Amino acid sequence: MTQTSQGQPYDYRFHPLVEPGWTRLPGWRDVTVAEWESAQWQRAHCVKNVRQLQSVMGDLLDERFYADLERDQSERATMSMLLPPQMLNTMVPGEAPTTETFYADPVRRYMLPVFSDRRTDWPSHPRATRDSLHEHEMWVAEGLTHRYPTKVLAELLPTCPQYCGHCTRMDLVGNSTPQVEKLKFALKPQGRLDAMLDYLRAHPGVRDVVVSGGDVANLPWPRLEAFVSALLEIENIRDIRLATKALMGLPQHWLQDEVRAGMERLAQTANARGVMIAIHTHVNAAQSVTPLVARAAKAMLTTGIRDVRNQGVLMRGVNDSTQQLLDLCFALLDGATITPYYFYMCDMIPFSEHWRISVKRAQSLQHSILGYLPGFATPRIVCDVPYVGKRWVHQVEQYDEVRGISYWKKNYRTGIELAGDDDALARTYEYYDPIDALPAAGQAWWREHGGGDHLAVAEQRAADSRATSERQLLLDTT
Ligand code: SF4
Repeated sequence: MTQTSQGQPYDYRFHPLVEPGWTRLPGWRDVTVAEWESAQWQRAHCVKNVRQLQSVMGDLLDERFYADLERDQSERATMSMLLPPQMLNTMVPGEAPTTETFYADPVRRYMLPVFSDRRTDWPSHPRATRDSLHEHEMWVAEGLTHRYPTKVLAELLPTCPQYCGHCTRMDLVGNSTPQVEKLKFALKPQGRLDAMLDYLRAHPGVRDVVVSGGDVANLPWPRLEAFVSALLEIENIRDIRLATKALMGLPQHWLQDEVRAGMERLAQTANARGVMIAIHTHVNAAQSVTPLVARAAKAMLTTGIRDVRNQGVLMRGVNDSTQQLLDLCFALLDGATITPYYFYMCDMIPFSEHWRISVKRAQSLQHSILGYLPGFATPRIVCDVPYVGKRWVHQVEQYDEVRGISYWKKNYRTGIELAGDDDALARTYEYYDPIDALPAAGQAWWREHGGGDHLAVAEQRAADSRATSERQLLLDTT
């Protein structure tokens, strides 16, 4: 007899993972298993433009979808299009897509945004900026952000095997779009990496390095292994986290013999020295967790690294319900032995308002997912507050829910406040809810105080923020 859920808000059932059949898509009717499981084939057949999408989807999608996509690419997109077949194949996974089901698909909504997805009332928040977390201002070497006392973020490269529409690092990562001309690193790659290592050797107070980008899967393996090996030589570095969405978007990369053997060498050295290496991936929807993703995660765990963890991004229309979040967490944990770790609120970059949710809604979602997962695998929902860093959504100090302004404090100084900013820990820092989610009085306040034509203001702020980043970049390299 089937056991009932006894009226629980969420009804848990174990679901074995399923790899969606790629031959349901006209352009991949003849693709073999060997081709599909080859990282080279996947990289060579990424979808980078509307024409390539058409050649995969054939006439499954109406012209209006392609026109919508084309318009978004030229008028709104902050990231260029780049979809490995593995990832495209997880959209509408159980059947041949139709225009309607493709439009409604959660993975499509953030990996392949179209113009009609975006809001027309408030497409950008008036306080939106490029580099919304001010990471460049906290660079201590080019690409090395020192924001927290004991932790640094090392951006090794500005590319990924896939580009996400909501990317926080849209200022630097990926190819330029008609809306966003990307910043470029000024130093040569090896010189940049050497400068990062020099800083870490000279700063014994740092124990934790997030090795990121971009996505480390785009770094040639020997170069990544050399960098991590150099980190393992630094006595104070005790935690190393490799950031790669490709574990989900291109699991074939992590299943390659060269990568597995190299990771095994790193894990052996790390274990011998008592250092913890983990992989951090970025999965936002349960349907993205397929048997191939599980194989890649398990292959990495088998090398002897400590853990594979997930840091998702909470987005409207993608995963902003209790059901979607718990389905994703259980698919990760039960199906792929990936530990759910964080969900970040979507950052305040230009044209992201249709994805963002309010702090209040995030608090309610955090409440609703507690108690179903083991404590060690219950993700915290965090707000990355500009000039502060990650704060658990229930840590807010004050909250003006009418204007959607939350006020946060921090308990450490970031790199830019070390020199005599006595007020840094007493001051509050602001984060802003999406305006369309506010009551009428709040929306009216922003119409009055948002600076007139809010789209023009948002674009101006984005341009100002870019100019600041460019000046900083120049200062850092002269
Ligand atoms: S994988 Fe990460 S860095 Fe790359 S585009 Fe997506 S969010 Fe940005």
